[in-house]
Amino acid sequence: MTRMRRLTAGLALALLAAGCSATGRPVDLASIASAQRPEPVGVVVNPPATTGAAAQVPECDPAASLRPAGLPGPGAMPAGSTMRTIQDRGRLIAGVDQNTFLFGFRDPTSNTIAGFDIDRVREIAAAIFGDPNKVQFKVITSAERIPALQKGEVDIVVRTMTATCARWVDINFSAIYYVAGQRVLVDKSSQITGVDQLGGQRVCATKGSTSLNKLRESPAPPVAVAVDNWSDCLLMLQQGQVAAVSTDDTILAGMIAQDPNVKMVGARFTQEPYGIGIPKANVDMVRFVNAVLEKSINSGSWATSYGTWLTEAVGQVAPPTLKYRD
Ligand code: GLU
Repeated sequence: MTRMRRLTAGLALALLAAGCSATGRPVDLASIASAQRPEPVGVVVNPPATTGAAAQVPECDPAASLRPAGLPGPGAMPAGSTMRTIQDRGRLIAGVDQNTFLFGFRDPTSNTIAGFDIDRVREIAAAIFGDPNKVQFKVITSAERIPALQKGEVDIVVRTMTATCARWVDINFSAIYYVAGQRVLVDKSSQITGVDQLGGQRVCATKGSTSLNKLRESPAPPVAVAVDNWSDCLLMLQQGQVAAVSTDDTILAGMIAQDPNVKMVGARFTQEPYGIGIPKANVDMVRFVNAVLEKSINSGSWATSYGTWLTEAVGQVAPPTLKYRD
């Protein structure tokens, strides 16, 4: 080989090693189309229904709870009561969310969990201890709410939880402290205008939510994409991995407050009355929590809390009228 030819061959090798072709154009080592955006952990497409057959659920008024029987003063919970056990322990254990903006979310500036649901927890702690901070928060997913109460891992669940007759079989609920409704969230550029247009499309909801069940029952059933947290749904919508998110308008309003590129469409197609979940055996705690809710509504603290978190995003509403079955 002449000296010149050796030089040319050497240059071509160097260009190849640098990822360039001999013509000077870059070589695509991986096709862009193969670079998939990662999905959140735990995504399941069209999971089987976990709730029992509707026929086994007794008819009930899910909004009717147990009437309060007085409100003992802070630090003076009656001997032998569930509240006394909590008082003696020194902290209320509450199952909450940290991924739902406005209801239960981690405030990055204070690194504390805050929101409308969290205010309800603090009122109950204040009623037991005279101190709203005597709380241990346990962050749980939608699907973990009922098991956490059944296993006694938490005293209460305050987590955008709809009171339903099926859930009343397994746990107790307080009176209703807010009524939400299921709607649809899409990208601002989407042509979808409501739930009836979601047939065959990928739609996100959390496992163990009423939202997921309602999508399954839809006359135009979508491909249900089930995740652990509502924030996973927003991420999947932003990444174009689902066509829509469908759940309570309250939760969707929190997503809109975080992302100007999404919009809510269609009317409410369910009623989601929120109750505080309490273990089935702790009837005294249900009456106590309802006394705290009554006090919160009558004193104006419910309205102050609503104003802080929800008036701007959701609109003005009056406090609910508490309802009892006995
Ligand atoms: N309110 C609905 C439910 O209790 C959806 C909200 C949620 O899962 O956090 O299932």
